Amino acid sequence: RAKSAGGNRFELADPEADARAITRHGLTTALPTALDRGEFFIEYQPLVHLGDGSVRGAEALVRWLHPQHGVLGPDRFIPLAEHTGLIVPLGRWVLEQSVRQAREWRELHGGVEAVGPLRINVNLSPCQLTHPGLVQDTVDILERAGVAPDALCLEVTESALIGADDDLLKPLRRLAEMGVDIALDDFGTGYSNLANLRRLPVSVLKLDRSFTQSMQQFPADPVDLKIVEGIVSLAHSLDLAVTVEGVETGAQAEQLRILGCDTAQGWYYARPGPPERLHELALVDATG
Ligand code: C2E
Ligand code: MG
Ligand code: MG
Ligand code: MG
Repeated sequence: RAKSAGGNRFELADPEADARAITRHGLTTALPTALDRGEFFIEYQPLVHLGDGSVRGAEALVRWLHPQHGVLGPDRFIPLAEHTGLIVPLGRWVLEQSVRQAREWRELHGGVEAVGPLRINVNLSPCQLTHPGLVQDTVDILERAGVAPDALCLEVTESALIGADDDLLKPLRRLAEMGVDIALDDFGTGYSNLANLRRLPVSVLKLDRSFTQSMQQFPADPVDLKIVEGIVSLAHSLDLAVTVEGVETGAQAEQLRILGCDTAQGWYYARPGPPERLHELALVDATG
């Protein structure tokens, strides 16, 4: 085979890479119709208050039920959707579904006053940030669902905002002024200048899972403890709340609670799941 390669040197050179490319190509062509065919769905993962263990809300995480490949995680198709521009209508769809879901939880939780209404976190891709319709779409979606802006938190990755100029920040500022929370997702993985935080219209830091992983032992590595301690105290001094991702054990939760983190998310509490599950968890929690 290799001998006959000549001008055809890619042929079966790396069957696995080939299969990946075909799948990528296949997924890219299937993407635009997937939205119309209703092949996307959303799972919700609870956000838990570290102080009292109550469920405060959930993060919406999109999945694709592909007719041939089964359930695909966002890491498989979000980059393709960003590349093809489908991310804008897909992101709008996720936002609309999630906000409606928040409204439904609110109705179901009419009698539970202790922790307030459940809030919803939705991820925004950098392409959505530069799309001119972002602010108006968000306003429309909230109004149509009858949900107050302060029930919504939009998550933007730290890397999307590195070196962001004022034009990029303007829509986020508008949303923040309306009362929408902006969270800096995967915080600590980029190279952001901590002083830069003051310039960003964010109210929540989501500490990346890598920090949680280093809290495996109890007590954890003293240097990591110092780093997280420093981030938390800086965040709090800037009036930012701190959420931690990827909490898988009780020891991690305890360590992060002691360090002053506010809310947590991870398999220790619940995997992402259907919306009814979140409602159940929140109710069990509220009624003891
Ligand atoms: P993310 O926003 O940082 O979301 C957290 C990811 O960590 C999710 O992966 C979640 O399932 C996973 N996770 C939660 N708890 C644990 C844990 O205890 N251990 C471990 N190992 N993992 C945990 P998922 O659902 O695969 O999403 C991956 C990324 O895809 C998200 O990272 C987010 O950046 C992106 N994404 C998801 N939904 C959307 C969306 O609607 N729009 C956009 N633009 N991006 C999305
Ligand atoms: Mg997120
Ligand atoms: Mg994250
Ligand atoms: Mg992450």
